[in-house]
Amino acid sequence: MSLHRIQSRCMDCGHTFDFHPLTARCPQCGSEWLQAEYDYDLARDRWLRHLADRPFNLWRYHELLPVQHAPPPIDLGVGGTPLLASVHLTQMLKLPHLYIKDERQSPTSSFKDRQAAVTIAALQESGLTEMVVASTGNVAIAYSAYAARAGIKLWAFLTSLVPQEKMREVAIYGTQVVKVTASYDEAKQIAAEFARQRGLYIDRGARSIPTVESMKTLAFEISEQLTRQHPEARYDSLPWRAPDWYLQAVSGGLGPIGVTKGFRELYRMGFIDRLPKLGIVQAEGCSPMVQAWQQGKAQADPIPRPRTHITTLATGNPGRSYTLLYEYVREHGGTFVAVSDEEAFRAMHTLAKMEGLSMEPAAAVAFAGLIKLVREGVIQPHETVVVNCSGHTMPIESHILGERWARHVVVARGAGSDSRAAPPQEGLLAALSTIATERYPRILIVDDHEPARILLRRILQSLGDYTILEAADGYQALEMAQQDPPDLIILDLMMPGLDGFAVLDSLKSHPATAHIPVIVVTAKSLTTEEQQRLRQMARLMYKGEFLSDEFFAEIRELLARAR
Ligand SMILES: *Cc1c(COP(=O)(O)O)cnc(C)c1O
Ligand SMILES: [Zn+2]
Repeated sequence: MSLHRIQSRCMDCGHTFDFHPLTARCPQCGSEWLQAEYDYDLARDRWLRHLADRPFNLWRYHELLPVQHAPPPIDLGVGGTPLLASVHLTQMLKLPHLYIKDERQSPTSSFKDRQAAVTIAALQESGLTEMVVASTGNVAIAYSAYAARAGIKLWAFLTSLVPQEKMREVAIYGTQVVKVTASYDEAKQIAAEFARQRGLYIDRGARSIPTVESMKTLAFEISEQLTRQHPEARYDSLPWRAPDWYLQAVSGGLGPIGVTKGFRELYRMGFIDRLPKLGIVQAEGCSPMVQAWQQGKAQADPIPRPRTHITTLATGNPGRSYTLLYEYVREHGGTFVAVSDEEAFRAMHTLAKMEGLSMEPAAAVAFAGLIKLVREGVIQPHETVVVNCSGHTMPIESHILGERWARHVVVARGAGSDSRAAPPQEGLLAALSTIATERYPRILIVDDHEPARILLRRILQSLGDYTILEAADGYQALEMAQQDPPDLIILDLMMPGLDGFAVLDSLKSHPATAHIPVIVVTAKSLTTEEQQRLRQMARLMYKGEFLSDEFFAEIRELLARAR
């Protein structure tokens, strides 16, 4: 356990305050653009002394991450992906120092695992149990996996353009999938409105501190790996090596925003002595950043209707993220370049056939950009180049999910629907109310053992729509039940203080709570007498039966009867 100081600095007014993952705005000026700051002297000192002994994963950099406990209990083995030296492309392009950061080898096969792992770890530390993401696929897949492990209910808003295979991959983790028949930017607006109405946390991309911070680890790993792989370099001596170029396929620009912050921090701590140039590659049909760059503008005009088959990269309105990247490129070098879908598909074949790397089209966009920049002489033969191979698509077996794994929101196309970055229209908001009803059945989980509560919570989250309440002991349970009686209580029998028997007796003796159905769960085997006594007042289940369909059937039946 390492408690370290994390601060949020407002990018607009400079106000600095203690970081909290649920604080979305500057208390001084209301700006949503906050940046994390740490004790860099302390981090430098610790890294010089301990880094070499730590496992090569994302958590080795925890002094510069917005979490207090690392690795978190829900880790899936995130980070520490290989930096591969190119074998054949390097010869074909006459670019001897070409490296590929193979992010396909992440737990859910894209670099979004970093984002989900750090964010969910930070949220878990604040006790959060429900959240929202909008996604073109990979963010939702990554968050789904970590949310499942953390016992967090996840609502994923996906544009209907996301391939079926990816949507099903999201659904199999038990995520609430909301399929929005609209562009990605519109899906984001709907998700934001949904989160606002329900008071839920939403990943706000480059405005969310844990999100940006997670992507820094790419810069840290790349520098360490380049240093170790270089024949003359010594790992324990400074400076480490930085590449001349970092290339990535870009949608909203979150990756490079985090990566450049990471390189800046390394520079500030004296680990590297220069900053790399940035190669931002976009799909031609959705390239607002490239267009703005070519026009010499610091602000990008949104593309209301992206025209690319590469849905992963379909952010039409990059907002301030572009400005931040523009400023970096102006200061430290680099460029913005667009490639056609066809060039990306061709690069996909080249990388699979020549490097043994099968990747999704979005990742291939970066390589198509590389090829273009080398041919144009923008990237020079002596330069060291790292390309982020950001994702690998894995189709899921379609028959195992059944039919009803998504909710649909269809946005009526009325007048003005082409207006740029317009606020959600009435039609959009009306559509929202069809996703989820106002009131879910309320289930109170009573168990003194936290992991047991999280297990039950997660089972309920993944099985249906419930409002889940939790009590850590009998007294709390009775108080909650009396104040606002739930529709069902799931009650642990063996608890210190007031045990399950006593809670049950008390519930049944008060008119306000006597009618509430109760499922008693127990780990110990009961005497015949105890069983008989309990059966008169509740359903009885043994721990270890939670995975059975019967448990779920029982819950549904009891709730239906209580109506
Ligand atoms: C998210 C994603 C991108 C775009 O990344 P941003 O930094 O958010 O623009 C590119 N490729 C893949 C595979 C992705 O999942
Ligand atoms: Zn401010």
